[in-house]
Amino acid sequence: MKISCDIIKDLLPLYYDNVCSTESRKLIEEHLENCEECKAELKKYDIEIKGVNNMEEANLLGKIAKKWKNDKKTAFLKGTALVSMIGGILCVIAYNVNGSYIDKDGFLVESFGFIPLGFLFAFIALVSVIILAFIAIIRRYKRR
Ligand SMILES: [Zn+2]
Repeated sequence: MKISCDIIKDLLPLYYDNVCSTESRKLIEEHLENCEECKAELKKYDIEIKGVNNMEEANLLGKIAKKWKNDKKTAFLKGTALVSMIGGILCVIAYNVNGSYIDKDGFLVESFGFIPLGFLFAFIALVSVIILAFIAIIRRYKRR
């Protein structure tokens, strides 16, 4: 039985998706062996569908990149908060370890520098934690 190219072309999507009957499949394969035009048509399907898959992949990659970027942002904030907390604590420790004494001229010598520095660290840590909490709240809100 000789089938026309038009019929084969109609069946090609089914053939490509592997949803046609074994009978049709056999007919299409037989026809494809002897018909370059329909073979080319089938190849076109392959390219088109691969193109769609690539687009989906690109979307997925975009989403992952976005998520990764967000995670990087929160990771940076967490790092900042942690470093600032440690810095603040170290300032308090350094201030207490250095202590204060009165030198021979009667001046009070203290490591004054550590006080504003400690406050600065504490402030940065506080701001980072607040932003992190804010991000966490927004994310939870979005998920609903
Ligand atoms: Zn053909």
